[in-house]
Amino acid sequence: MKKHNFSAGPSILPEFTKEETAKAIIDFAGTGLSVMEVSHRGAEFQAVVDETIQLIKEILSVPEGYSVLLLQGGASLQFYMAPLNLLVKKAAYLNTGVWASKAMKEAKLVGEVIEVASSKDKNHTYVPKGYEVPADVDYFHITTNNTIYGTEMFSDPEVCVPLVADMSSDIFSRPVDISKYDLIYAGAQKNLAPAGLTLVIVKDAALGKTGRTLPTMLNYQTHIDNGTMFNTPPCVAIYAALQTLKWIKNLGGLEVIQKMNVAKAKVIYDELDRNKCFKAVVPNKEDRSLMNICFVMREGYEAVEADFLALAKQRNLIGLKGHRSVGGFRASTYNALPIESAQALVDALKEFEANH
Ligand SMILES: *Cc1c(COP(=O)(O)O)cnc(C)c1O
Repeated sequence: MKKHNFSAGPSILPEFTKEETAKAIIDFAGTGLSVMEVSHRGAEFQAVVDETIQLIKEILSVPEGYSVLLLQGGASLQFYMAPLNLLVKKAAYLNTGVWASKAMKEAKLVGEVIEVASSKDKNHTYVPKGYEVPADVDYFHITTNNTIYGTEMFSDPEVCVPLVADMSSDIFSRPVDISKYDLIYAGAQKNLAPAGLTLVIVKDAALGKTGRTLPTMLNYQTHIDNGTMFNTPPCVAIYAALQTLKWIKNLGGLEVIQKMNVAKAKVIYDELDRNKCFKAVVPNKEDRSLMNICFVMREGYEAVEADFLALAKQRNLIGLKGHRSVGGFRASTYNALPIESAQALVDALKEFEANH
């Protein structure tokens, strides 16, 4: 029976990615060996790295003067590595939730951190607007999609300082103007590959300004100078990422992906706005994430919340339990989730309503 995978991360990947990676785990590029057991310096794997970087540049239209790095340590290591490489004196942060707060905590180990605005007053169910970013900060850090609360920033903030973004949960879900950013980072396990790979896109000219002596592994320049293979990279995760990138390209690129994501999310949000038992957590339509749709029981239906999880389980709707800090439910609708799964969720929401 088909499973509808709404998990927040690690999360659903294209069938193509899973099938091609499974084949390469047995026989990689005709070598008769697994992609897990060949040298990362061999010609076959070098070709995988080259094509992965080339496709990332092509799909995201990465301009000249940027480096694409395939690192480890997750977005959580980038919370520290980004300020270590870019923060000279002070940086501004937009506090849109747990991940943004964790990024700020690490940046404070490196320099002064200014919180320009926070959505904490409403448990991060909106994206702050109308804030001022001081002109003398080294960068302004945003989290484009707030995985836990289901808010998303769909336009780049208009600021006159360099932008740094954690795009872990919406990278490759829509086109981005990379030229507005000095640094973008993303853990791969939401929309690209299995866990273990971290994507970094960095503007070369932004580096080397801090005067700090950096630990070798935490210096972006180390990885740039060594073609992102200073040490052994996460080979299987990179191979899988390449398959996802091919899948995106074959579908027609990010404009097509974006349309699919808009259509999927609309089916679910429309139902939540209509259904008498459930409602979306994020009231402002312009702040509603296309990747993580958080919802709760409407007033009067709280007592039957557990019943919906039971129904979801029966209908093979997996991973719908909300993050422990928000409660309720969360349907993650990443690129690889088919619209049939969104429809299956809507059917369950309707069935539940009819029975209550
Ligand atoms: C999942 C997530 C993280 C944490 O990523 P790790 O790779 O586990 O460190 C950080 N930021 C956002 C927005 C996320 O969704």
